[in-house]
Amino acid sequence: MKVSLTCKKAVDLISKKEEGKITLWQRFQLWNHFVECSLCKLFNLQNKSIVDSLPRLKNEPEELLSANEKKEIVDFSIQAK
Ligand SMILES: [Zn+2]
Repeated sequence: MKVSLTCKKAVDLISKKEEGKITLWQRFQLWNHFVECSLCKLFNLQNKSIVDSLPRLKNEPEELLSANEKKEIVDFSIQAK
């Protein structure tokens, strides 16, 4: 099987990972990609912090992120694809 991932595929796997939907092999492929690609590694870290903060976002929808910070995350997600 092929180990290397495209960035698009890696981003796809990162979102699925947060939902617990990827296999051990896909996890391995992701980590392998992170070694070579700091952009996807960063996206993975950001994605994690977004998911972790979701319960809080429900309670405080306006307070956590400034409009600028939200825009940065959205811009980053678009670039990563
Ligand atoms: Zn990448």
